[in-house]
Amino acid sequence: MKFCIRDDDTCYYTEPAVLESVFGDFWDEVPVTLACVPMASPDTDAMVEATEPVPMPIEENAALRSYLIERLEAGSIEIALHGYHHDTPGGRPEFVGGTGLARKVRDGRRQLEAVFDTDVRVFVPPHVRLANRGVRAVTGDGLDLVRGYGPRPRELQAHPKWWTTYTRFLAFHVRYRRRFRYPRVLDYGTHREIYSHRLNARTDMTWCKRAFDYIARNDGVFCLSVHANGLNERGQRKLREIVSYARAREPEFVTASEIFYSD
Ligand SMILES: [Zn+2]
Repeated sequence: MKFCIRDDDTCYYTEPAVLESVFGDFWDEVPVTLACVPMASPDTDAMVEATEPVPMPIEENAALRSYLIERLEAGSIEIALHGYHHDTPGGRPEFVGGTGLARKVRDGRRQLEAVFDTDVRVFVPPHVRLANRGVRAVTGDGLDLVRGYGPRPRELQAHPKWWTTYTRFLAFHVRYRRRFRYPRVLDYGTHREIYSHRLNARTDMTWCKRAFDYIARNDGVFCLSVHANGLNERGQRKLREIVSYARAREPEFVTASEIFYSD
């Protein structure tokens, strides 16, 4: 099986010390896919406190930029795209209610690739929510997706693979609901998706370990989703607990794009 950690909301307002304190103990062995917001806006609902009156490019935080470049070179992290402004147009998540999404994906991806001199191949939607337009914007740029848990919202697509893949996924969801995530990569023809397991201070660790065991039995992909910035001491203990649990079972520790590109 493969094991992957995705962390959301790294942006201009992120302090390197927060990432270091949450992941520093293990990310040289267990890499973390950092889903980054390229241009956090003043009204962003990412888990940070915005203080500037205009959207701030992630690279303007020089300390964060050099820290992430160092961690990239060490192989501890991968950079993924997490929206553009991470704002709430019309009170909805950016890739549900927003406009100009294709441009935002294109510009956000190019920005992150240029700043960090790396390839960005994965998109994590803010609040793991996407409208049809959002999916088209993401897949139009050739990116793959990490989702939350459910079958909706779901765009209809004409690609022949779409029906078979979605039917298979829907049957799985009806059977297991929130208990388990679909254990493997879903190939929709236009793009690929994996599902993730949210971990915070309130996570039921019995559920989390059972979900891990289910994926281990199916030789699948276990993706854990965290927000370092909002993770209190209790949440951090739970993170260390599931990482130790995984280590003892010797999965292959990978980044999100390695899941899609090594199959
Ligand atoms: Zn987010």
